[in-house]
Order: sequence, then structure tokens, then C-alpha cells
Amino acid sequence: MPHITTCSRCPRAVQDEIPDDWEVIEDEDGQPHEVCPDCVTPAERQAFDEDAMDMVVEMTNPKEEWLTFIAERQGLQLGKSPQPDPAAVDYGTYGISHVQTNGLVAGDRTG
Ligand SMILES: [Zn+2]
Repeated sequence: MPHITTCSRCPRAVQDEIPDDWEVIEDEDGQPHEVCPDCVTPAERQAFDEDAMDMVVEMTNPKEEWLTFIAERQGLQLGKSPQPDPAAVDYGTYGISHVQTNGLVAGDRTG
């Protein structure tokens, strides 16, 4: 007995594996609904694409490492603010300083 998946918005149905161009969209209750390509709205399609882009960016270009790399090439150093208080304005911020002079070039103090 083959497994049949039906589009939640039209009578279209597929057997067994759901094709790649179908999307699984969660409703307000978090219940997944299979939706065929004809029924996926452009906004929904774009949301999925953006999710995929975010994942690629996270995997291939960790921001902190990249900034450190760029800074070092210019004789600068990227440092994190030593501020331990989450309520402070410079908490979790970064600063760029000259390695030789230890002078702050941009951002907040780096300790
Ligand atoms: Zn459909």
C-alpha cells in the first residue's frame, strides 16, 4: 500500500517521497502541511530561500573570524569589549585597535 501525500491547498497528490519542489509549511499550531509548488505563495517561497541563505552564510563566513582576518592584515587587532554588564552600552561590542600603539581606531574600547 503506497503512502499518498496530498497538497493541503488543492487535490494534487503524490505517492511515496515528497518531491523537492514541494514545501512543508507549518500553521499557527506548528502542524506541518505539505504544499505543492502550484500552491506555495511567492512570499512563502522567498522565506524558505532566505532561511537557506542564512544557513550558508553561517557555515561559510563566521563574522568574527572574518573581521579578525581583515583587521590583522592591516596591522590592527579586533577585540571584544571586556564589559561584563549586559546593561552597559558597550556590552558585547567590538573595537579595532592598532597592534603597535594599542590605540583604538574604531568601535569601543577593547581592554
Ligand atoms: Zn496544491
